[in-house]
Amino acid sequence: MNNGLYVVATPIGNLDDISKRALEVLTQADVIACEDTRVTRKLFALLSLDANKPFITYQDHNEEQQAQKLIDLINEGKALALVSDAGSPLISDPGYKLVRKCREQGVKVWTVPGCCAVISALQLSGLPTNRFMFAGFIPNKEKAREDLFKELCSLNSTLVFYETAQRIVKTLGVAQKYFQNREIAVAREITKLYEECLNGTAEELIQHFENNQPKGEMVLMVAPPNEPSASEIDVETLLKEKLKNMTLKSAVKEIADTYHLNKNNVYELALKLKNDQL
Ligand code: SAM
Repeated sequence: MNNGLYVVATPIGNLDDISKRALEVLTQADVIACEDTRVTRKLFALLSLDANKPFITYQDHNEEQQAQKLIDLINEGKALALVSDAGSPLISDPGYKLVRKCREQGVKVWTVPGCCAVISALQLSGLPTNRFMFAGFIPNKEKAREDLFKELCSLNSTLVFYETAQRIVKTLGVAQKYFQNREIAVAREITKLYEECLNGTAEELIQHFENNQPKGEMVLMVAPPNEPSASEIDVETLLKEKLKNMTLKSAVKEIADTYHLNKNNVYELALKLKNDQL
């Protein structure tokens, strides 16, 4: 096995989700860097892997100082596998600084992809996936949480957050204020026995969790703000504005793309406006 850093995803609930390649890499790696050696040793045991190989802790608080030590091991010829407690390393988990340092120092980095709660939650949600913004964990402090929602509420994307069962009702209360009438989805216990994805307004979900105690790991998602319907868009005014400083072709393309309109219809209207001006 070549020396270098292998970023290896592990299951987020169902052990069978480990990939064949992840098993090979974890078997062959010389050293395993992980958040918590107890958690990863347990995973190794469950996967019938050698739990006695060297394990090194790599966490947010020691990321900076550990990164260079790990790179030194790789430079000595070792193959180093980075895993987190569950899911994909670097996604709300440590690893970013290590990968960055490796890249800066010309150390080879491989990805061994697999489970990631953000992606699985989106797949379950039925919300638009063409554009999404993953914003990590929702801050615990009230002001920071409000600031984050305020910042993101006008973004034309599905929003995805990691959240805990203890805080979900409180967070949905704040969501109610900033994401009024938008569809919200909460995916919980993904790939586990009680996997479910609940969709509704913030109010409906609060009611649900008041009747059913929130439990397990969760991902909170918010649908994009409603786009105006084609009949609500004043294409003529938009075209007049754009044509002041854009070519006809660019103005048509931009408006049609932005508002998902038929390009030929916008083009015809633009030509008419141009001709009327002559
Ligand atoms: N890096 C991981 C990943 O790729 O999925 C995420 C790590 S982050 C520290 C842990 C958070 O991910 C949990 O608090 C929860 O919001 C979400 N999560 C992880 N596993 C989950 C699951 N099985 N079901 C729902 N959410 C999950």
